[in-house]
Amino acid sequence: MKIRVSTATASLLKLKNYCISVKPSTLYFLLSGECEGKCLYCNQKNGYLARVKWPEFDFEEVNKKIKTSTAGRICFQCLYGERYIKIIENIVEKINAEIPVSVSINAVEEEKMKILHDKGIERLGIGLDCASERIFTKWKKNVPSWKEHLNSLMKARKIFGNATCHLIAGLGESDEEIINIMSHLSKNKIKVALFAYVKNNETMVDLSRYRTIQIARYFIERNEGKFYFEDGKIVEMEIPYINEGPFLTSGCPDCNRPFYNERVTRIYNYPYKIGEKFVEEAVKEAEKYAGIHIVDE
Ligand code: SF4
Repeated sequence: MKIRVSTATASLLKLKNYCISVKPSTLYFLLSGECEGKCLYCNQKNGYLARVKWPEFDFEEVNKKIKTSTAGRICFQCLYGERYIKIIENIVEKINAEIPVSVSINAVEEEKMKILHDKGIERLGIGLDCASERIFTKWKKNVPSWKEHLNSLMKARKIFGNATCHLIAGLGESDEEIINIMSHLSKNKIKVALFAYVKNNETMVDLSRYRTIQIARYFIERNEGKFYFEDGKIVEMEIPYINEGPFLTSGCPDCNRPFYNERVTRIYNYPYKIGEKFVEEAVKEAEKYAGIHIVDE
């Protein structure tokens, strides 16, 4: 059996000698084969997810290396299609990991989730990707519906005790749409893994807008912050403090996805801790887009 490994993970596991500037804190794998979904923003058929290339290796060789790794988590990106769930089950059984395992997947039925849970998977990351049903219908094709994705997230939360939802900024959603869905997920104790849309290797969302959404995500998750809109665009926000938290990669614990959706020279999701200077820069960037007010609540 073959499996795809992100270039940074392949380097970390010494499967290849690629040059990487930041170590992934999670090991990232992608199933081999072709996804049956036809999502218009996805480049899986060309061997890419966002900006990341996924060379293919022999699974047995990879499995031996996993055992030697000190990463905090393992993440499998599952393709859409009945047969891929079986493959995931088989792989998870074979790796018998001592660290938490996430599976990133489209909407999936409850019985299958229970099987995945019983195989030892710690949580699911569900690729809702779109901020509203309007955006979902435009981009996500040949996969379960918006409603089925939302239901799956709720069920995953119940079965696994936690769940992560992948959301992509830059698919044409309004600020209000993305903030509303983040609030809805957060109320249901579902974590958001925020991504920026990448097309032809370029990040398609303006950095200042992304910084604003990052700050909103961080405080929504903490049930803090107030957000004010005009015609769907965020114009002001009130937050109780600021630190580096909003600007770091979000999602499952230990997931840093280095340079998944950006170039090394213009970082959207920081895969490592940043100092005060970078926090100040990031806030200044956000302030080009919306008024950011730090207020005592
Ligand atoms: S947040 Fe990270 S570890 Fe979790 S499912 Fe998504 S990519 Fe995988």
